[in-house]
Parts: sequence; C-alpha cells; structure tokens
Amino acid sequence: MDHFLYHNGVLHAEGVPITEIAAAVGTPFYVYSAATLARHYGLLAEALAGLPHLICYSVKANGNLAVLKVLGDLGAGMDVVSGGEYLRARAAGVPGSRIVFSGVGKTRGELRLTLEGGIRQFNVESEPELRALSEIAAGMGLRAPVALRVNPDVDAKTHEKIATGKSENKFGIPIAKARAVYAEAAALPGIEVVGVDVHIGSQLTDLAPFRAAFEKVAELTRTLRADGHAISRLDLGGGLGIPYTRSNEAPPLPHDYGQVIRETVGNLGCEIEIEPGRFIAGNAGLLVASVIWLKEGEGRRFLIVDAAMNDLARPSMYGAHHDIVPVLEAAPGLEHGLYDVVGPVCETGDTFARARALPEMGEGALLAFRSAGAYGAVMASEYNTRPLVPEVLVRGDHFAVIRARPSFDEILGRDTIPEWL
Ligand SMILES: *Cc1c(COP(=O)(O)O)cnc(C)c1O
Repeated sequence: MDHFLYHNGVLHAEGVPITEIAAAVGTPFYVYSAATLARHYGLLAEALAGLPHLICYSVKANGNLAVLKVLGDLGAGMDVVSGGEYLRARAAGVPGSRIVFSGVGKTRGELRLTLEGGIRQFNVESEPELRALSEIAAGMGLRAPVALRVNPDVDAKTHEKIATGKSENKFGIPIAKARAVYAEAAALPGIEVVGVDVHIGSQLTDLAPFRAAFEKVAELTRTLRADGHAISRLDLGGGLGIPYTRSNEAPPLPHDYGQVIRETVGNLGCEIEIEPGRFIAGNAGLLVASVIWLKEGEGRRFLIVDAAMNDLARPSMYGAHHDIVPVLEAAPGLEHGLYDVVGPVCETGDTFARARALPEMGEGALLAFRSAGAYGAVMASEYNTRPLVPEVLVRGDHFAVIRARPSFDEILGRDTIPEWL
C-alpha cells in the first residue's frame, strides 16, 4: 500500500494534489511520499521485531538528503557504496556508527575518508581490499570493523544485470575460500573481524534463494566460530522485491522474509543487518510527466511525453515495467486506447511502454509512472541536455522541492572552453 490515491478524481501524493505540484514545479518531476517511506521501513522493523537488528537503508536506491533524513530520523542505518554516498548519509544526520560501507571497488581514498569520519562496518569484497584497509587503518592507529562479503553461489532468479550471488558475478569472496580469508583478516593489524555479509541480488520475488544463501551463511558462521573468530553481526544484504504492477504480482511479504531470517540465522545470537533499498523507496515515488504530442503512426499511436530514458532509465536499461496512470482519473466506462509511451530522446530505446491501454489523453495531460521511487532519480542523467529531473517530497499537506531543476545557465556553466582553443 502507498499514499498515492485519487481524491475527487485527482491523483494525490498524501494530502497534496499532483496537479498542484505540477503547476508549481513544471514537469517532469519525481515526487516521494514520506508516509510511504516510513510505512515500508516500519514493515521491515516489524518483521524483525524481537531480533537485535539494524535496517541499513541502501542509499543507492534513492539518496536524496531529504529521503535519507526521513529514514534516519526513524532510526535507520545506511548502506553506502561510495564515499559520496557516505557524505550524503552524514549530511542527512546519520552517525557513522550506523553506516556500513559495501562495494566491490572501494578506493583507498574512500577507505580513508570513511575511517576518518567514523564507520560501523566495512563489507570487504576481496583480499587486496582487505590488505589495503588494514594498512590504512593501522596507519591511523585504528582497527577497521570488517565483515567479509561472501559469494554463496546462489541463483537469485532475478534480472541478470542485478543478480550478484552467483560465482560468475564480480561480487564477494567465494564462500569456499572464506575460511582462509578470515584467517588472514584476523592476523592483520588494522582489521577487527565482526561479521559475515551476503547480498545475492535485487528485485527477488521468491524467498527460496534468500533461504539458501542464509543457510550457507549460518553454516559458515558456525565454522568460523569454531576457528576462533568472534562473529557478532550478520549482514544479510537487500534485494526484497516489490510489485511493479497492481494486478498479477505477489512478491514475498516482509513478514515471511523475516520468518526466513529467524529460521536460518535467528538462533546464532548475532545482530542482524539488512540493506533494503527498493523495498523502502520503490513504491514511495512517482515520476510525473506531461503529454507533448499525440502522434498517429502507421498502426500505432505514440504518446510522446516530456520524461525520457535519461530521467527514468529502468525501462530502457532492464526492460522494466512501470504502471502508468493518468493524474486526472478517467471517467468510468471511458474508452481506453493502446499507446506506445515514448520520450523525446533520439534513441528507439527511449520507450516506456508499448501498446499500453490508457484513457484518451491530449496535449498537456499529466500522467504518472508508478513505482519510480527507487533506481529512478539516482540514475538520471542530462543526456540530450535535458536538465536533471527535479525531486519533490510530500508529507501530509506539505510539499517541498528537495532537488531543484538546474537552469540552462547552470548546465552550460559546468563546461569550459579552454583558452587555447
Ligand atoms: C543494491 C544493493 C542493496 C539494495 O538492493 P535492493 O534490491 O534495492 O534492496 C543492498 N546491498 C548491496 C550491497 C547492494 O549493492
């Protein structure tokens, strides 16, 4: 459930009509609902109730400072994958003691930055990273708290570009090698081993791969403890899928996900960390656009809208489906037509939907792409010199622009023509 509903025939974000935001901000824009973010966070907190845990929101799903502040104020930790994301989490008021640092290619500069700033845990993905981290931490008179990200060789059964838990993926340390790397870690002067980390992919719609991976983590934890390592935390990653259509999808319920965690690792006495991104932010956001032209093609009708693949990359990048709804609710019984919904970018890949049933919509009509709160604005670019899409946050009857649309002066001002040219 989210807080994007029709009232008196107008789509609202909580208490605010989308038409009002569109009039103030112009299209296209993203709009997020604080109540929906909080609701999704709360469902996960409920699912893990009774287990010592920290929900580390995955900043890469939607890293706007205002979004991070909503979640940070609820007590969320953060999972970051770059120095920049670390600085975002800190700027939103989240202390380093609640931030974990993941990623397969952390640079020495990023390791130093986060050690200096304070960090809860590094999820280390390779031996070279481990050695560099030890060297840097020891040089600062510190021991870096580390969980090794293991690759459990489990098929997450999701889109190939976002599956990360198979041995052929670049992520993590092969689980068969883990014992040896833990032994090395324990001997390094700048490392303090605290846990085990796993993350097998994103948009998982079946609990079985989670269960398989967590069982392997439990078994490894027992082995590592027998080897003398103090394993006090298990980071189980993110990946819980969400419904992208209102009709025919039934991804796992957070309660059942929590049950799998309890059944597989609940009796190990470890603090549980999870890193949900999409589950919290995905259905907490819309991308709102207007129709530029309705173009009659040969046997096809194109709805050309003012949002494009540079604003929302998921359809062109992953072939992803987003429900599209009119902002002004269609009258019951109104004729629906089939439209190809496309953006203005000069690529055929700039197509949001083919032959989608939508009510008649003319020039200037507003429409909303649902489920756009995660991996939406964060992946936006200025391809075709289209200004970076602005973001709006709603809470109750309030709305505010939380990232403004840049002016063309700002955009052109970022480039420099060298003096010698
Ligand atoms: C992307 C990512 C997540 C979040 O995945 P979701 O599918 O958005 O929950 C969590 N942890 C790591 C290490 C990631 O790379």
